[in-house]
Formats: sequence, structure tokens, C-alpha cells
Amino acid sequence: MSDQSKVDPGRCLTPEEMKPYLEGIEATGKEAVPGSLGKADTPETMAAQAGIASDAAGIPSDLAMQSRALLRHQREHWPMLAKGFGSLETVQSRTFDFDGFGMNVQFNPGRIVSSSAKVDKKSIRERKCFLCQPNLPPEQKGVLFGEYMVLGNPFPIFSEHFTIPHLEHVPQLIRDAFGPMLDLSAAMGRYYTLFYNGPRCGASAPDHLHFQGGERGFMPMDTAWEEMAARHGTWIADDDRLRMARVDDGLRRYVILESDDKAKLMQRFDQLYSAFAEASRLAGSEAGEDEEPMLNILTTQEGGRWRVVAFLRRKHRPARFFAEGEEKMLFSPASVDFGGVCITPVERDFQRITADDLRDMFNEVSVTPEVLDAVVKKL
Ligand SMILES: [Zn+2]
Repeated sequence: MSDQSKVDPGRCLTPEEMKPYLEGIEATGKEAVPGSLGKADTPETMAAQAGIASDAAGIPSDLAMQSRALLRHQREHWPMLAKGFGSLETVQSRTFDFDGFGMNVQFNPGRIVSSSAKVDKKSIRERKCFLCQPNLPPEQKGVLFGEYMVLGNPFPIFSEHFTIPHLEHVPQLIRDAFGPMLDLSAAMGRYYTLFYNGPRCGASAPDHLHFQGGERGFMPMDTAWEEMAARHGTWIADDDRLRMARVDDGLRRYVILESDDKAKLMQRFDQLYSAFAEASRLAGSEAGEDEEPMLNILTTQEGGRWRVVAFLRRKHRPARFFAEGEEKMLFSPASVDFGGVCITPVERDFQRITADDLRDMFNEVSVTPEVLDAVVKKL
């Protein structure tokens, strides 16, 4: 299924390199204490207990387990990534309560590069693409899945954070990549939620197609989605195979899709995309007429059912991002912020930010309720 000819020699973690790091990884998602395993509990037998087959080299055929092993390997063999994950220990956190839901704010100085990244066309053209294989650091290894490669993210937000680029340098566009995103979500769903940042609303490599992933449950939306739909939304489709909700929680406007049927999800997503592209054109948005409408998308698969949360945007960064002096706040929201974990890389911003600031800034960059209505009417 994977095209090995597109992979640089030595870039993929070999079975021999991966195997020691699979020790103690449980298919159930719980991390075992290293060294606590009995002799019989090899990665193969533990995977087999969960009904996961292993290949001839003893590697369980589960992308989530392989990805977890990859990250463990990278933490020992790639100092820059180890440093990035080490710095997560000093991250500070605050919680703000809104109408029946919470939003976390984190002070994470390691994210300043991403939050303040220049993503205009000229800057992108002039830099070396950091997702193209020849430009990856020599220590960075990956796990292959179809046309994509799972990599450890050296500037993490999650305690397990992955970047999943396409093997080729093709633009960040979701319309034709939504099917592969669902496939990846199913393959990674044992532990992780995937997310997609549109080229105009959060992707720091808008010229190279990629997703990211992190442990499920870290973003409040991972667990609150059903409650959010009940409290702040309307189920506009609700049958055995597919459920779809329109949600406006006072900060964000989004559509939730839930189904075990990939074809149905792809069809509904395509309708959503077309309707939103048209509504964006009519209402105005920072994305140009020939560009993708502004979307941040979370996907995961649990118990055989996919869950998709599509946040509809009209702006990349709030005005305060560009302000001077007291007014300035370095907040550049993308999928993780919309999922309920807001990243502030500047300590002063972290300390002074208020619930009203968050409400104002999310509303400023989200579509209006009228645009959400116009989209939902076409679904
Ligand atoms: Zn590239």
C-alpha cells in the first residue's frame, strides 16, 4: 500500500529499532510500568490478546502502537525532540469556565515559533520545507502509512504529539485528503485524535499536506462533544449510521459528524465543504475566492465510529495579535485551541488573559451564526 520509492533510505524506523520500544505498550491504551512485565508479555502476545496480528518481525499491525513506540525511540535518540517533550513539564495551565464547558489556557514558550510563524506566500517560498524528507534532521525517523509518514513533533503541545506529512510536497488542501484523514484516524484511533489546520488558519506548512495527532482526551472537545451538541447545538441528522450536529457555544461555530460509514462521512463532508466555500465567498473571509474555506478539523475513531468536528473560521489571527503595546496578545488559534486548549507562548499573555478576551478572540476568528446557518441549510 505504501510506495517505498518515495521514502528516503534510512528514514523509516526498522523493525529492529522499533521492537525494544514496543515493550510494555498495551493495546488497551494504558501505559505499563517499564520492567513490570512478565516473560510471556511480549509486545506480540499483548497485541494478540487484543486481537491484533503481528508481522514476521514481531511488529503488531497497529499504527497507534507503532507510533507510540516511535516516539519512545525518538525521545532516546533525538536530543532536540527529547528537549521539546522535557519542556512540557514546565507548562503552566489555567482553566476558564463558560456556559457548561471549560477552556484551558497553557503557557508553552516552546510554541512561539509556531504561533508567530510567517505563513505568507513569499516567506513560504523562500524557506526550506521542514516536512520534506531531505530537509528532516538525520535523527528524525518515521512510520509509514500509505502515502503518509508519522513523525514525532519536536515542538509538542501534547505529551505524545505527531506530525503526519504526505510523502510528497503537495499543497495543504483537505478536499481530496479527507478520506486519507479518516483512514489515518481509524489506524491511530486506539490512542489518538488527529487534526487538520487549513492553509489559511493555522498550518505552518501551507505548502505541504500534513495532519497532526495527539493523545485523545487532552482536548476537552474529545470528551465533551456530545454534551456540547446537546447543550449548545441541534442534531440535524440522527439515524443509526450518521449523526450530524450544528453547534454554536457562544465562542465557536462548528459541525459535528459521527458515523461508522466512511462513504457517508465523505459525502457529507464534501457537502459541508461546498456549502462553506459558497457561504464564505458571500459573507467574506480572509481566504481568497480560489482558496480553501477556513477550516480546523478534529477526527478520531472510537469503537468503530468516526467522530469529526469541523470548526468554521473567517480569520486566521485576531486583531490583538497585530496590536502594539498593552493591547497586543500573541494568540494564534488553530485546531488545538479550538479543541479547548489555548496556547499562549508569552508568559505575560498567559497571566493576564481573561474569559472575556477568549470569548472576544474566538468570536472574531469564527464565522457568524448566520454563516453557520447558511452552511447547515445545505446539508
Ligand atoms: Zn515539503
